Amino acid sequence: MTVVLRTRAELQSALADAPRPIGLVPTMGWLHDGHRTLIGRARAENATVVVTIFVNPRQFTEAADYTKYPRNEARDLAVIEAEGADVVWAPPVDEVYPAGFDTTVAVGALAGPLEGAARPGHFDGVATVVAILFNLVGAERAYFGQKDAQQVMVIRQMARDLAIHTRVVACPTVREADGLALSSRNVHLSPSERAAAPILRRALVAAHGAWAGGERSGDVLRTIMHEVLATERGAAVEYVSVADGVSLTELDIVDRPALASLAVRFGSTRLIDNEILDASPGT
Ligand code: AMP
Repeated sequence: MTVVLRTRAELQSALADAPRPIGLVPTMGWLHDGHRTLIGRARAENATVVVTIFVNPRQFTEAADYTKYPRNEARDLAVIEAEGADVVWAPPVDEVYPAGFDTTVAVGALAGPLEGAARPGHFDGVATVVAILFNLVGAERAYFGQKDAQQVMVIRQMARDLAIHTRVVACPTVREADGLALSSRNVHLSPSERAAAPILRRALVAAHGAWAGGERSGDVLRTIMHEVLATERGAAVEYVSVADGVSLTELDIVDRPALASLAVRFGSTRLIDNEILDASPGT
């Protein structure tokens, strides 16, 4: 039986005597198989599983994106129940940010490029809400998707710097059969945009293939991705990146673990995806 809670106080009293370890899965709702995988992993590894549903206004950089973000709590609760979570925290905005709330958690260099540059303030909103969630839940582990690779890195940095002991677990990206990464925003794609959207994956696979074949020029790898994306007329490229896998600075020579990533708009829908370029064993 999953219990649904709304306030900070309810959450903290429900967790006071909860069996440890606790696994936390933060979400913005409109759950899909990507979220399901995170909850399933949390269920497998923890005695208590907490899922949060909160469309966090502070991480949206466009008002329209926030307003039209898909929401369906009843459906989400059924998904979470089926995955066997113990607690859902689905607070109203003023429970997360009560009157007088006046703190922002801002991560430095890691939050600057890529998504941080394209969406100024986005990671301040993410780091702030995740710090609140980590503190409220006190979980041993929290589960995030590799689809949002920079987000995982920013949250790890935040938790380390603020001495929050929740371990950040990154889970592989779940995809449609044609390679499109599952995303709540996919619902906004028109049929023709949906048909075009797997081009993100194809661009990343092409770059990964070239890299696996020995290509080590960052410019060449970025150009390969641009060339693949250019074959799809509806794809408006926001950025294409091959960056250091630790610092996220762009690489001229890919002589260390790297992250290939991109952001592309189809009409008003913005999609992101990434691929790790790392030859180390176990990656
Ligand atoms: P969101 O509800 O979009 O904020 O996502 C909640 C969590 O699910 C984040 O950690 C995301 O990275 C993760 N997530 C979103 N899409 C996927 C996916 N396709 N595969 C795996 N994890 C995902």
